[in-house]
Amino acid sequence: MKIKELGEFGLIDRLAERIGEKEGLIKGIGDDCAVLDDEYNYTLLTTDMLVSGDHFNKKWHSPRQIGRKSMVVNISDIAAMGGYPEWSLVSIAIPDDIDVEYIDEIYSGMLEACQSYGSTIIGGDTTHGDILVINVAIIGKVKKEDLCMRGDAKIGDRVCVTGDLGKSWAGLDLLRAGKDGYTRYHLQPECRLEEGRKLAHHVNAMIDVSDGLASEVNHICRESGVGALIKKEKVPISKKTKEAAKTLDKDPMFWALSGGEDFELVFTIPEEKMSFIKDIDFTEIGEITEEGVYLLNGEKTELKGGYDHFNL
Ligand code: ADP
Ligand code: MG
Repeated sequence: MKIKELGEFGLIDRLAERIGEKEGLIKGIGDDCAVLDDEYNYTLLTTDMLVSGDHFNKKWHSPRQIGRKSMVVNISDIAAMGGYPEWSLVSIAIPDDIDVEYIDEIYSGMLEACQSYGSTIIGGDTTHGDILVINVAIIGKVKKEDLCMRGDAKIGDRVCVTGDLGKSWAGLDLLRAGKDGYTRYHLQPECRLEEGRKLAHHVNAMIDVSDGLASEVNHICRESGVGALIKKEKVPISKKTKEAAKTLDKDPMFWALSGGEDFELVFTIPEEKMSFIKDIDFTEIGEITEEGVYLLNGEKTELKGGYDHFNL
């Protein structure tokens, strides 16, 4: 069978079934991080791999940006659990055409991100490969009462998202078209670590936007056994992203729903707790319902889409 037939998440489900549930874990496969009990805190473990051509392009990402991104995408998963990163392991496969100075620059980017977000590289692995591949694994911590899982959304919760969406794919499509414009966010994404920690006290469910809003809302609903109604006109898209869409004659809503890599946080929160969220830029975009995941735009349509590495 072709992997395309299953898709990325179908493949993960299939692997998860074979691996099975493990005892002694607070959470194994199925969230932004695995969660282990640690007496006073929970330990968070996450790993993400970046492959040349798929996750970055040497034509337009500088090696420093590649290094930075490989850390940020992992720290974003820690942020989505309400935690903070501690230790990192970095594995790297290096092709023949890459020299030492290029690797030095990748590490400058990684160390920069470690400094900004508070992680320390403690090891890894180095090998040769046909193309450049970077894998980062991060161990983090979260206070027990702050742990935010995908599976804790409750019917009636408001669905909210930090910042704005579609900006990463705006940049990617501009770069692909060889046009100038709002490419900064695609080249140098940030993650919402501080926001995640502030939100953690109040929210029920949380996830980071790595594969697009449609995909993330569906993950929350599936894990929580609930539905959602998202109001299309509320989905936050910045002026710069809209301008990029105009330049390219593309639909910015598609970037927001299916593009991904915005590394914003989607969270669900009881209405009475909304006023506790201070000093965070966020937008209420819908609510958690009993069943069905819908987009409301005059009429209700199924909220589908999301980035899948095997179905482009
Ligand atoms: P994210 O986009 O937040 O990094 P993923 O979609 O990559 O999350 O992963 C979803 C879940 O599946 C996570 O719990 C992750 O650890 C698990 N997972 C992904 N790939 C594999 C794999 N090859 N083997 C086992 N578990 C996996
Ligand atoms: Mg994630």
